Amino acid sequence: MTALSQPDADLTTIPVMRPWLGEEEVAAAAEAVASGWIAQGPRVRAFEEEFARRVGAAEAVAVSNCTTALHLALHLLGVGPGDEVVVPSFSFIATTNAARYVGARPVFADVDLATGNLTADTVAPVLTDRTRAVIVVHQAGVPADTRSLRDLLEPRGVAVVEDAACAIGSTVYGRPVGAGVDLAAFSFHPRKLVTTGEGGMLTTRSPEVATRARRLREHGMSVSAADRHARGSVTPEQYLEPGFNFRMTDVQAAIGRVQLTRIDAMVSRRRELASRYRELLADVPGLRLVADPPWGTTNYQSCWALLPPDLPVSRDDVLAQLAGAGISARRGIMAAHLEPACADLPRRELPATERLTADSLILPLYHQMTEPEQDRVVTALRAVVR
Ligand SMILES: *Cc1c(COP(=O)(O)O)cnc(C)c1O
Repeated sequence: MTALSQPDADLTTIPVMRPWLGEEEVAAAAEAVASGWIAQGPRVRAFEEEFARRVGAAEAVAVSNCTTALHLALHLLGVGPGDEVVVPSFSFIATTNAARYVGARPVFADVDLATGNLTADTVAPVLTDRTRAVIVVHQAGVPADTRSLRDLLEPRGVAVVEDAACAIGSTVYGRPVGAGVDLAAFSFHPRKLVTTGEGGMLTTRSPEVATRARRLREHGMSVSAADRHARGSVTPEQYLEPGFNFRMTDVQAAIGRVQLTRIDAMVSRRRELASRYRELLADVPGLRLVADPPWGTTNYQSCWALLPPDLPVSRDDVLAQLAGAGISARRGIMAAHLEPACADLPRRELPATERLTADSLILPLYHQMTEPEQDRVVTALRAVVR
């Protein structure tokens, strides 16, 4: 496989992330276009089956992105106005917005400082008799302890939706994230490990839920356009309930099918590079690199580092100095509750969220990264964080 040349392959700049796309993806996309069927069709169906197998889910339903997958998950659960959905503020804002799309109220819970994820201890204090669901994020690919969260929530009848946008290839309690769960949502944005440009997947263990999800993503139609076409005869469709247009295209699915075959190689290379960062930065006092929790393994979709609390320079100064050295690091995960879009929601004490969002940064990590490139990042970071 030859990597395609990148527009920013300037030797002096190290990107924070770079998708791993090769000639096979080019050929697969071209084949889909040449077939004349580019909307949702047979390649989406094949992608769903292969994805379900890969993560150990009974069913996978392809959608337009992970945000629509989360929206659909809450819609399938019947969550709506008057209901509360617990979410981490420490996440991309789509997690919070998903609750809003169904008319529910997002309620922020704090996260654990080590993993950046919700835990039973951070969720329990914000539960009320209106809580209908919790969106548990596997932030940056680090698996959340879904077992202890389920033990807390199931007896209360509160649903768990997993935001696995970042977590393809991560494991929890010995199984892939998304295996055997009620509802998990994945993203194929280029910032994630597996990409189709834009795209998402909803996995579920329930065939009934999957059937309804497939209908809802296509305007509530009784027969999909692809099925009607395949039958060749006139099959009038019915619209069984108000639905959405959340479809993926066959061009995206063709790319995604190739990307699935790269997951193991991607994850093992990222874990190798992350452990090399850990060794090379081990003697920087107080600097903490994200790591596997006791109950699972991360895919290192993002390798984030928490800066020492007593550092004389701010995180943004660190980023500026790295940028000056031609290294494109990024601020860590955002905190939704600090954004103007969430000014209408009650303020809560979220100390771990605020510490993490203020003092963490994401280090460059991509499949094609070389050791000399990584050494440059380490040298530049050590010069700032000494
Ligand atoms: C990227 C991301 C999303 C949104 O994914 P899209 O496919 O871009 O809609 C949602 N949640 C988390 C945690 C993410 O990182």
